[in-house]
Amino acid sequence: MLTDAFKKSDMPPKHIVVIAVDGPAASGKGTLAKALAAQLGYAYLDTGALYRIVALDTLKAGGDPAKLEDIAPALEILKHLTPAALTDAALRSPAVAEAAAKVSVIPEVRAAVRRYQDGFTKNPPGNAAGVVLDGRDIGTVVCPAADIKFFVTATPEERARRRFEELKKRDPNLTQETVLKDINGRDHRDSSRKISPLRAAADAHILDTTGLNPAEALDKALGIVRAKFPPAGNDNTASGPRKFKPGA
Ligand code: C5P
Repeated sequence: MLTDAFKKSDMPPKHIVVIAVDGPAASGKGTLAKALAAQLGYAYLDTGALYRIVALDTLKAGGDPAKLEDIAPALEILKHLTPAALTDAALRSPAVAEAAAKVSVIPEVRAAVRRYQDGFTKNPPGNAAGVVLDGRDIGTVVCPAADIKFFVTATPEERARRRFEELKKRDPNLTQETVLKDINGRDHRDSSRKISPLRAAADAHILDTTGLNPAEALDKALGIVRAKFPPAGNDNTASGPRKFKPGA
């Protein structure tokens, strides 16, 4: 029982471990972030899906994803999102990806997405001990004080090959060349925009996944996480909220 001398409100706030995973389209960052979250028992947020949801809703209403007045009604969705909405297959189409890149350059859209992201990192679902967020600006803008930052890359050709494999079943007319062109165009837009451009944080671990399978990429990333937060029972350093039990 808590005594008057040690009330709950006087306790230091719990440290929620934050892992930022940034990188360009089809670099493998989503696969890695999801697997890391599963291994560590942390909550996972695909921040690209937040932009995609806003883009899809704008397109569905016949709006122009480059115009704030057309996008504004879609921003309401972010106030009552369910986790299932973030995994809707309709979000994965090239048209929605293209529209997401357009809505994401608008400051009001980034501010609305930011509010959702901040709520998620402060109060992770399931009261998780940590969060893994993947996106473009997590380590640089959204969570600059993240405990661990990864910047995941792969060559544009390798990324186009992966995205083509993922999309070809749904669109038999698609070619790898078209996908490569889309990826190069999106990379350019994401890295050259003024607001929150795609770039690696100075303190990010760069992880090139070209030639690595998902398990190998996860192994490398887990090595970095475990070096910083040794698994419980396996370290002699001061204990604290920063430990984790692998697979917990
Ligand atoms: O990662 P994904 O391909 O789903 O992201 C879709 C688009 O959303 C990106 O091309 C980018 O323009 C935007 N985005 C962003 N910031 C993030 C995540 C995604 O601007 N943190």
